[in-house]
Amino acid sequence: MTDYKLGRDYARQQDQNDPLKTYRNQFHIPKDEDGEDAVYMTGNSLGLQPKITATYVNEELESWAKLGVEGHVEGKHPWLHYHEFLTDTMADIVGAKPSEVVVMNTLTANLHFMMVSFYQPTKERYKILIESDAFPSDKYAVESQLRHHGFDDQEGLILWQPREGEELLRYEDLEAILEDQGEHIALVLIGGVNYYTGQFFNLKRITDLGHKYGCMVGFDCAHGAGNVPLNLHQSGADFAVWCTYKYLNSGPGSLAGCFVHERHGNSPELNRFTGWWSHNKKTRFNMRGAFDMLPGAEGWQLSNPPILSMAAIRASLDVFKDVGFEILVQKSKKLTGYFEFLLKDLGEDVIRIITPENPEERGCQLSIQVKNADKTLHDKLTKSGVISDWREPDVIRCAPTPLYNTFEDVYELVERLKKILNG
Ligand SMILES: *Cc1c(COP(=O)(O)O)cnc(C)c1O
Repeated sequence: MTDYKLGRDYARQQDQNDPLKTYRNQFHIPKDEDGEDAVYMTGNSLGLQPKITATYVNEELESWAKLGVEGHVEGKHPWLHYHEFLTDTMADIVGAKPSEVVVMNTLTANLHFMMVSFYQPTKERYKILIESDAFPSDKYAVESQLRHHGFDDQEGLILWQPREGEELLRYEDLEAILEDQGEHIALVLIGGVNYYTGQFFNLKRITDLGHKYGCMVGFDCAHGAGNVPLNLHQSGADFAVWCTYKYLNSGPGSLAGCFVHERHGNSPELNRFTGWWSHNKKTRFNMRGAFDMLPGAEGWQLSNPPILSMAAIRASLDVFKDVGFEILVQKSKKLTGYFEFLLKDLGEDVIRIITPENPEERGCQLSIQVKNADKTLHDKLTKSGVISDWREPDVIRCAPTPLYNTFEDVYELVERLKKILNG
């Protein structure tokens, strides 16, 4: 337990002693109306831009200008291999072996491509289980997969729901669903960290449960990657997907990550959609031979990828590599713990935190309900220079991210909230 204290002096002192304090300077921080640094709390939605990103992107623009098509094989980072420059650091961040990870496509696209392989329904076993408050894109994706295979998208969808009057999900309830209907469930697909409540699930526990009942298990880790230790390999999950523009700071709409557990990496019997980038690298350009699948997660690629976006990812991953993920998580726990401490001081009759209290069951985000609040509260916060996120009906999501947010940011956020609440 950390001994947090009230007051600005404490926040400043923590910032001064912060071993990661130099990293904020490596990011572009958006400004408020007065030209001051905004209190940016939406790294869970769009991570900020590292200053080195422009250099990395410009390098590839220059290669293109100077080398044209030769840039595929020449220059400092030949495009033909570009995704490989991202693999090791990305694997490290999500806790996977390099052969299990690839950066390709976008998030919802990857989710569909993974379901092509891991959602293979039969007449008896065709249902998909998701969390009741799954991110809309994920819900739409699984509904369309059900329809695509000729099933009813309502009847075939099972929701893991919180109990009456609760927000968080309980594993006992998941187990009860599986016990009851497991033999009809083909796929369990859960958001590794729920986007709304911030609940970080025990991926191994869910995977073990799903596998016990013969289901495939996959995770959407959009809110987990770069935020919490996912340990994907050790979880035993069949697959996982995530985006790189949230905690991974790689720019709006940037490419997404994909994990395929090594036990599936070289299974020709798994159905999959392929393209020339899934083909053996050595013979890819012979062009006329029969298809020869690449082993590992790379074998799910389709196209030659957008290099400019990948350059932005490489820049961001270099920052992560420099920091080290473990020390980042340490600061994250401390910073979010401090945020929780200040919020609780406002009075639990005014503020309710719906995110789990246990630091092992959450990342940096806290989802806050303010008594009798509506969107005008969020509008006032925005006007005061706080960039946070409002989700209907009554939740403000704030994510102090350890790479660029400070203790004083958190202090300011709560001070401004307090001022607004006191009218
Ligand atoms: C952010 C997010 C998405 C967004 O999907 P895109 O395909 O990148 O637009 C989908 N699912 C989850 C769980 C997310 O958090």
